[in-house]
Amino acid sequence: MSDRLVRADNLYARIRDCARCPLSATRTHAVPGEGSLESEIMFIGEGPGMNEDRQGRPFVGAAGQFLDELIGEAGFRREEVYICNVLKCRPPQNRDPMPAEVEACDDYLQEQIALIDPLVIVSLGRFSMARFFPKAKISQVHGKSRAIGERMFVPMYHPAAALHQQSLRETIREDFRALPSIVEEARALRPGPTGPGEAVVEEPAARQIPLFE
Ligand code: SF4
Repeated sequence: MSDRLVRADNLYARIRDCARCPLSATRTHAVPGEGSLESEIMFIGEGPGMNEDRQGRPFVGAAGQFLDELIGEAGFRREEVYICNVLKCRPPQNRDPMPAEVEACDDYLQEQIALIDPLVIVSLGRFSMARFFPKAKISQVHGKSRAIGERMFVPMYHPAAALHQQSLRETIREDFRALPSIVEEARALRPGPTGPGEAVVEEPAARQIPLFE
């Protein structure tokens, strides 16, 4: 078993047992994340919904099906990317995440980013974007990539938003179609091979950079 797989198993086990915030009392299953540990792209949504909570897997409901479509249209397969959420447990009635819950869960996300070490991070939805760019407005910055260190960040609308608002469907499709060229740009940021486990965690610094303001 590779070192990266061992670290992922260990992380997932800690998330499944986690009781750091009150969401542990109302969840059915924690949803650590899934996909290729070698992925160049990491999608970060907001939190599990009803179907995700039932199955313990991210993006498996209607929004997940649309995400699969979008990933396919961008030229990738779901199993070759990595998908997770800012919050690993479902907020009751799908209410918005509370700041204290996001804070309590943040170590897991940071560990996950360091583990996968993706070239491109795609945030899906407002709350995920706010994790990296607290002052940005998604209507102004969606689809616009920014390099921070050796990584590109791209905020996108949440697929569920496009399900509820038809006018966003083509917008989110266009944003996804730009992903291959963003990955190409990101590859150029890292000369030489990117080895597993060599991650530099830049996210705390990224959170302090007032991008997209
Ligand atoms: S949401 Fe995160 S911090 Fe809260 S119980 Fe679940 S895994 Fe733990």
